[in-house]
Amino acid sequence: MKAIQYRSVGAAPEVVRIPKPLPGPGQVLLRVTAAGVCHSDFLIMGVPAEQLSFPLPLTLGHEGVGVVAELGDGVTTVAVGDAVAVYGPWGCGRCTECAAGKENYCLRARDLGIYPPGLGAPGAIAEYLLVDDPRHLVPLGDLDPVQAVPLTDAGLTPYHAIKRSLPKLVPGSTAVVIGAGGLGHVAIQILRALTPARVIALDVSDEKLELAREVGAHETVRSDAAAAQRVRELTGGAGAEAIFDFVGAPPTVTTAGACARVESDVTIVGIGGGALPVGFGALPHEVSVTAPYWGSRTELIEVLDLARAGVISVHTETYPIDDAPIAYQHLHDGKVRGRAVILPNS
Ligand code: NAD
Ligand code: ZN
Ligand code: ZN
Repeated sequence: MKAIQYRSVGAAPEVVRIPKPLPGPGQVLLRVTAAGVCHSDFLIMGVPAEQLSFPLPLTLGHEGVGVVAELGDGVTTVAVGDAVAVYGPWGCGRCTECAAGKENYCLRARDLGIYPPGLGAPGAIAEYLLVDDPRHLVPLGDLDPVQAVPLTDAGLTPYHAIKRSLPKLVPGSTAVVIGAGGLGHVAIQILRALTPARVIALDVSDEKLELAREVGAHETVRSDAAAAQRVRELTGGAGAEAIFDFVGAPPTVTTAGACARVESDVTIVGIGGGALPVGFGALPHEVSVTAPYWGSRTELIEVLDLARAGVISVHTETYPIDDAPIAYQHLHDGKVRGRAVILPNS
């Protein structure tokens, strides 16, 4: 089968032919209908050889949807032909976090060497994906695979982040979204669907600010050193109740902190190496700063239900598998509007 692999440290992703996997006992083989390309893959591809905790080559892709193609021995909860979305943050399935559906916070995954597909285990940008357990599969129903696949990360991650802050996003409140890319443009829509908050989007690109307005941002602000001041003006000097930073770089976390109102939430989702000091006087009183990771299986079910309700429309650019390296290049260059989605079987 064809797959997109990161084969050696520093190399660009490439199209390769590898054997089609066989499902072992308890496993499920999916024929992948769509796979998303996330900015986090560049993080994996930036890790120096001595710090890599899994072997290369790695088949990329941690957003996947597909159709069940083959069942390993003993699998009874899904059937061949079922359309499913893959819940990506695999855990041990047994610890207290996993028992609550929060495998993204599994207490034992690291010790047991369990990795999400595309982030250590073979990923979804391939004709077939081996899924370790049917519990990782959520029914897709009649959702369109291309629309649905980004929801497994670019939808789930902002959904989890926003859900924590819902009590603060009351009428009259303001939410700030920094970075209107794959995750950010979905975040804006989730905020509009779930809250009455006014949404202010920040980005460095005019095209992304235009997309932000198109998907529901009330205001857009160029992300520069003056952006926080502009957010303060737009909030009558008070600042925003919730700030979601989908860049997470040193200048954006600084902006995020400078937009914060007293008792607000600053959520750093982007993995850009920034950190925000917390301590008396460092930020307005009682600001909570957090850096979440992905979301729970229950939340993935909720995000898919939100899409079924017709209130999220992911902007996608599709590529055949042979062009996946180009999709990575476009994402790297900031040229993707919304999410790049690979179609491995078309
Ligand atoms: P993306 O490339 O699609 O979007 C990034 C957006 O940020 C682009 O629109 C870009 O123009 C904008 N941007 C860049 N620099 C900016 C700045 N200084 N100010 C404002 N906007 C700026 O990336 P993505 O796939 O949406 O991922 C976003 C981030 O979230 C990445 O860092 C990724 O690694 C991270 N991520 C984290 C989690 C998690 O669980 N914490 C999950 C998925 C992705
Ligand atoms: Zn991701
Ligand atoms: Zn666990």
